[in-house]
Amino acid sequence: MSLKTFKGGVHPYEGKELSKMKPIKELKPQGDLVFPLSQHIGAPATACVNVGDTVLRGQKIAEAGGFVSAPIYSSVSGTVKAIEPRRVATGDMVNSIIIENDGAFIEKGFEGCSDYTKLSNEDIIKKIQEAGIVGMGGAGFPTHVKLSPNNPENIEFIIANCAECEPYLTSDYRSMVEEPDKLITGMKIILQLFPKAKGLLGIEDNKSDVIESLTALCADEPRIEVVPLLTKYPQGGERQLINACTGREINSKMLPADAGCIVDNVATIIAVYNAIVEGKPVIDRVFTVTGDSIMEPRNFRICIGTSCKELLEAAGGYVKEPKKLISGGPMMGFALLDVDVPTTKTTGALLALSEDEVSMFETTACINCGRCVEACPENLIPGRLAKFSEHGDKEKFEKWYGLECIECGSCSFACPARQPLAQQIKTMKKTILADKRKKK
Ligand code: SF4
Ligand code: SF4
Repeated sequence: MSLKTFKGGVHPYEGKELSKMKPIKELKPQGDLVFPLSQHIGAPATACVNVGDTVLRGQKIAEAGGFVSAPIYSSVSGTVKAIEPRRVATGDMVNSIIIENDGAFIEKGFEGCSDYTKLSNEDIIKKIQEAGIVGMGGAGFPTHVKLSPNNPENIEFIIANCAECEPYLTSDYRSMVEEPDKLITGMKIILQLFPKAKGLLGIEDNKSDVIESLTALCADEPRIEVVPLLTKYPQGGERQLINACTGREINSKMLPADAGCIVDNVATIIAVYNAIVEGKPVIDRVFTVTGDSIMEPRNFRICIGTSCKELLEAAGGYVKEPKKLISGGPMMGFALLDVDVPTTKTTGALLALSEDEVSMFETTACINCGRCVEACPENLIPGRLAKFSEHGDKEKFEKWYGLECIECGSCSFACPARQPLAQQIKTMKKTILADKRKKK
């Protein structure tokens, strides 16, 4: 099996064995559900229910706030209890709709489509838009916008990000094991929009069983190919995946579409299947609860809006005191203050790591070993960029291509002096980008 990859990157401890063999378990929440109105990049959604209204599972509760936005649907039946700011995983307070769950899970009823090949491109895009689909791998970019590039005839590759390169996460893996037909049909629906494109499923070789099963399932699909990838972080980074699968390169000033590519992750493509074939909006997702502090690490199919606290309880609580709670993977996720935050369309994991797993080494002086340079998938000099950030030297930071950083954290991981390189670079990037926005 020839394995494609990109230059640079690191290979952290995988931690996937904790949850990868456990089948997805349906989880029906008991408590209130919280739906932040900003679960995507773009304008926040606008509530279209009032306090006191009764709602059904699958009922729209917020309209998209613009073209680059997405509607939100209730994942349970119940009563709108409040519309007020609530704290989310990033620590921000976000205006949210709170639904008192009646525990009955009465559905609105969904109208699917038995033959999607008869749908026009406009119908497909409209259904994807109406279903509230956004990049469910964490990016949150509305999918109908991504699938409407300026020059659709220039799109040559639809790449499914099946890499799941972040340590510990196994929700995409379980979906590929348990719902491969939905992934393949979802890909075929997207390919229908781009008649000249080929579908590539980029999968890391630590999921060799999935590479085999999907290759067999795609044997009669001339437009879909499985691309085995070397297991290496950040293989699932958009630029790295495009480079590994097609050899093409993009930078921060380009969109994947500029290189003839569109990238969507597994959960997003399955959401496209659900929207078109089953007529179901985004109300559920597969979610990993794992880490060495968790009693029973596993994957759940959750109702979006469920509290992380309930998910933790469903996984048996803590087996040992966590030192660090993370929403998402350990490389790019957010540190959580506590588990009293809701799940959203874009949050796919809760990670609880004990002191044994969290590196506690003191930061020491740079020894100029160059390991950060070797690890950087964007060919940057992270140690130098971090110094520019420390000294507030925006000019040099830009001159040395600091804005090309994809914030993957590989440099910090590789650094023997435990320098918080990615954090420093990220901070400087944020400042410069904010300055640029102000000037516009
Ligand atoms: S400089 Fe940025 S892109 Fe390069 S390794 Fe560090 S975080 Fe990743
Ligand atoms: S990896 Fe760390 S110690 Fe080595 S050159 Fe980079 S910043 Fe310095």
